[in-house]
Amino acid sequence: MAVFERINTAIRTRGAEREYGIDILASHLESYMAQEHVALVREAYEYSAESHTGQFRQSGEPYIYHPLAVARILAEMRMDHVTLMAAILHDAVEDTEVTVADIEQRFGRDVAALVDGVSKLDKAQFANKADAQAENFRKLLLAMTQDIRVILVKLADRLHNMRTLGAVGLAKRRRVADETLEIYAPIAQRLGIHGIRTELEDLGFRNRYPNRYRVLKKSIDQITGERKNLIRQVEQSLSRALRDENIGGAVVGRQKNLYSIYLKMRRKHLSFLEVMDLYGFRVVVSTVDECYRTLGIIHHVYKPIGEQFNDYIASPKVNGYQSLHTTLVGPGGIKIEVQIRTRDMHHIAESGIAAHWQYKLGGPAKAPQVRAREWLTGFLEMEHAPGNSLEFLENVKVDLFPDEVYVFTPKGQIRRLPRGATPVDFAYAVHTDIGNRAVACRINQHLAPLSQTLKNGQSVEVITARHGRPNAAWLNFVKTAKARTSIRHYLKNLREDEAVRLGKRLLERSLDELGLSNRVLKRVGVKQVLTDLGLEDLEALYVSIGLGNRLAPLVARHFLPADADHAGIIDKPLAIQGTEQLVVEYAGCCRPIPGDPIRGHVSTGRGIVIHRVECQSGTGGRAAPLDWVTLTWADDVEGVFAVELRVQGENKRGVLARVATEIAAEDSSIDSVNMSDRTGDVADMRIVLTVRDRAHLARVIRRIRRIELVERVQRI
Ligand code: MN
Repeated sequence: MAVFERINTAIRTRGAEREYGIDILASHLESYMAQEHVALVREAYEYSAESHTGQFRQSGEPYIYHPLAVARILAEMRMDHVTLMAAILHDAVEDTEVTVADIEQRFGRDVAALVDGVSKLDKAQFANKADAQAENFRKLLLAMTQDIRVILVKLADRLHNMRTLGAVGLAKRRRVADETLEIYAPIAQRLGIHGIRTELEDLGFRNRYPNRYRVLKKSIDQITGERKNLIRQVEQSLSRALRDENIGGAVVGRQKNLYSIYLKMRRKHLSFLEVMDLYGFRVVVSTVDECYRTLGIIHHVYKPIGEQFNDYIASPKVNGYQSLHTTLVGPGGIKIEVQIRTRDMHHIAESGIAAHWQYKLGGPAKAPQVRAREWLTGFLEMEHAPGNSLEFLENVKVDLFPDEVYVFTPKGQIRRLPRGATPVDFAYAVHTDIGNRAVACRINQHLAPLSQTLKNGQSVEVITARHGRPNAAWLNFVKTAKARTSIRHYLKNLREDEAVRLGKRLLERSLDELGLSNRVLKRVGVKQVLTDLGLEDLEALYVSIGLGNRLAPLVARHFLPADADHAGIIDKPLAIQGTEQLVVEYAGCCRPIPGDPIRGHVSTGRGIVIHRVECQSGTGGRAAPLDWVTLTWADDVEGVFAVELRVQGENKRGVLARVATEIAAEDSSIDSVNMSDRTGDVADMRIVLTVRDRAHLARVIRRIRRIELVERVQRI
């Protein structure tokens, strides 16, 4: 067994060496590349071969022949040396000890960036086969790519893997073939790389549906054989007609790609013969002018069907394709379709975007390159493409989808979000409930803040809690309308709930003060009161009191019997619990904390604003006494409260740090610090910090006083 394996390996190695060995590759490169660049490619080879030592492909030959074969495909596309080096190193980071940093150090940033890009693409696995997912995945791959050359290496990699797919098991073969048809062939098509696209489709089709492939191939071979003479006849008469008019052009019959025939039959429910009734020919000439003249000449040889022809020269396709297309009635009444194009157009039709990096393109004229750039500009639909900078051609770093970002769910589904989106946007995109209960998230398995901006290809997992709820601060960073409206909606409902509770308590308290029992709210008379106030039900009344739109004492009076006297009013305070977040505000002027005597000012639309009793603001006679409610703190107030201290001391280095340390030691945190005087001998600091209550504040103040540099501490 081992002997057979060794012999097999030896045979395969010799074959691979003959076909893609470094010497063959180098001699190919020398035909279009500068000598020193070829030397760099050789260096990359030696490095890569060394690091892949001892690794073998499933087909038996040493691993290095795979990257070499990939490089060979790119060499046939006349790609630049940077791309070639990256191709030779493309699996080194994934499969050997070599790191991207090693490659950067040895071969420079450009090569390293390409290798890194290819390795990242390899990590993105296409899991879900739904159509929309395939579309998203294609976009994800393109979006992850800053440099189109990464995609070109990846396509060449895939092409070689497809060529050697026979060596792998059936299930894997099918999966890879599927992915090739769904993802990679369409990308090649989008980028206009016709050669790679058709080969990927052919190999994908053959491996995915071997039987259908065989049957279809046989039928095509047969029909082509039968009509060989007919095809030759058309070629000859077209060539002769061109020669007579002094146009040097090549006429060739085109073989239709099997996969596109298959798709057409399936999509349009056509029989094989119906699809095959159209014969394709291509005429390649030198100039655009000759294209149009050729069209006229051809229309004299065979009669066009209708007056129609497609002018993709004047208006190229999105992927840059240019040609004239016309359909004619050929000999024996068969339909023939002729494409007419220049050599440059043909070149771009075959290589697409790859035409960019090709060496010595188009001789002295820059025309094809300029056209390629214009095409790329249109292709990217970029608004800010540099007008005529040639640098743009040299080193295109592109963002194909500047407004979008693609991330994975934990189940491998892809979500498209606007650029700048955060895990909160992601959570709401998955489900409103997940957004509403989000408390934290993991990005690529690591805990991350909910406000972090997402990047292409990341996997995102949202951690929820049963009692989690949206935070108003999220509105500052969410990007999607869905997240924004959901958060607003939730907070509005929450505010209304809280307003109902507060309004009810305020009204009951006021009734109590008037010596009335809560039960009046359940009596028949309540209807009349609501009608008088123009409200629908009790809940609406509570909301309007809770939000401060109506004053509870005034409303309570409506419940008094007509002849009641108002003498026995008792002032009963309302207890503040600290949980009434959206209908209660703590006044910034006096910053009340639990333990302070407080009272509340009912202000329209805001609910109650709480002030310390000694606070002077708002009592300038303007506010009617009815606007004020007596408040007290509940026994178990929740939360932390901001309070402001003025600390004066010696203006020496480190005084602020000392103060901050003492505050932290007492388990309080600083919101802000303001140093008003920094030049004199006296340091005058205003510090806003948070405490639980007065006792807590007292402990903080005591600690600060103990600092020897501090002379005075005072609550403001
Ligand atoms: Mn590879």
